[in-house]
Amino acid sequence: MTTEATTAVDAVVADDLAALEATLVELEARPPSQFRTTAAPAAVVERRATELGGEALAMRARLLRATVLVRDGKSEQGGRWAHQVLAWSQQHGDAFLLSRSHRALSFFYRQIGDLSEALTHAVQSVANLTDDAPRVVRARHLMALAVALDESGSTEEGDRRFREALALATAENDLELALNILNNMAFTAYENGDEAGAQKLVAQMRAVQARGGRAFGTLELDTVARIDMMSGNYAAVEEALHTLVDGGAESTIVALEGDTSALCLLTLAEARRLDRRYAGAQAALDTAVRLAEERGLDRVRAQAREEQAALYAATGRFREAYEEHRAFHSAATALHSTQREAQARALQAVFEATEARRASEHFREMAHRDALTGLYNRRYVNERLPALIGEAVATRTPISVAILDLDHFKRVNDTLSHSTGDTVLQNVAQLLSESVSGAMIAARMGGEEFLLVLPGMDAQEATERCERLRLRIRAHAWEPITGTLAVTTSIGVTTAAEGRATPSALLSLADRNLYVAKREGRDRVVADA
Ligand code: GH3
Ligand code: MG
Ligand code: MG
Repeated sequence: MTTEATTAVDAVVADDLAALEATLVELEARPPSQFRTTAAPAAVVERRATELGGEALAMRARLLRATVLVRDGKSEQGGRWAHQVLAWSQQHGDAFLLSRSHRALSFFYRQIGDLSEALTHAVQSVANLTDDAPRVVRARHLMALAVALDESGSTEEGDRRFREALALATAENDLELALNILNNMAFTAYENGDEAGAQKLVAQMRAVQARGGRAFGTLELDTVARIDMMSGNYAAVEEALHTLVDGGAESTIVALEGDTSALCLLTLAEARRLDRRYAGAQAALDTAVRLAEERGLDRVRAQAREEQAALYAATGRFREAYEEHRAFHSAATALHSTQREAQARALQAVFEATEARRASEHFREMAHRDALTGLYNRRYVNERLPALIGEAVATRTPISVAILDLDHFKRVNDTLSHSTGDTVLQNVAQLLSESVSGAMIAARMGGEEFLLVLPGMDAQEATERCERLRLRIRAHAWEPITGTLAVTTSIGVTTAAEGRATPSALLSLADRNLYVAKREGRDRVVADA
């Protein structure tokens, strides 16, 4: 192929990849209630991206498919894919996918009842969000973290994230997401036995729905039904959920997540039992068990055993109640051993995430520091000085700059030693940092040359300050370090009234004054003429 032809093919491929990415963006933005609609198009995108060599896009598409599988209760394959995508994004440093695959894995582990892993991944999904992540994405990840925190017993920590997420969703007018968050908050209130709080949150959910949010799905219906049950309103539960048992294909209830239909059925069974409608309760329970077994929902299956035991007991079948209770107990114990580690590992995960952030702040700080003296370095001055001059212009205030150079420093190195020279530099640096405060900067520009940036300081003030510093350096207790050899400095200082100057102009004016100070005999301060 000619070069032109190759370029043309590359362009077409790039174009196709861009189109695939646009499709992915749209699929990723679809609300959870439509999650099933994303599976087929995501599969097409994955295949096409693979053909075109767009591995990152293929991985993104695969993660979407994994999420659908997990939400649909097909946990095993979904979990495996999500892990693959996580490994890929770690290898390739893809922050977007890293954060998203952690969130998908948090769902996955929650679904299979491993709350410890669910929390670990939720923490990572938030910790790995980049600063430019859209607010809706941040809200979704915060919500996943809030749910995971809640389920591991950190109610207050969870509540804080819920509120943050709700504020973001409300600000973005994302009603579906707001409904989702409120639903989770209502369920938490229910679990904490806070009936009044729960009712208030249900009212908020209804208000969001009235503003144009979608109809309640199994996720919300179960929450509302449990809260109705708290107040003994069994008729309301029946009204909301009965179609799940006898509605069959006519049921218009949207199943949002893999285990929510089964959970609704358990709620219905409990309400019917409490309402003494035992045959109906058994029918709901049987349907729940079938669903849990079909979908491998161990947690729901264990809960179903507990409900079955209660139902046997309510109908006087105490021996069977006892057997079923034992079965529930051993199933719950198996689940619990996983959950017990949740707290410890959660703390560890939070700790590691914070440590990682601290480490990166530490490295950023290190990049701005001079290794020998700990003062700021030339790079920092180059980054910071333009902004300080800009502020001076904006506030119509002066800014001064002083360059300091040690006098005859070569002698220290030559007659004593290089390491003595280093100690002198460190001592001078110490005196410099003691002489600055607030917005002032003390930096080592290299060798035995230092810089002071003095924002807001006019020529007179700056000159006086430099003069004091010069005397301080000369009067320092050098004897233990250099013996009879004196340590003095020459300083060139310059001032830009109202900040009008460029960084390089300021530095070269200060340098010229320093040169004059050296020429006139050293150990002195020279300011602008
Ligand atoms: P002047 O008064 O004209 O500035 O004389 P000077 O001797 O101070 O100037 P010159 O530039 O000739 O020498 C600077 C010396 O500083 C040379 C170099 O060996 C020494 N120097 C530069 N960086 C370091 C350092 O990190 N440690 C030590 N010990 N010496 C350094
Ligand atoms: Mg020098
Ligand atoms: Mg010198």
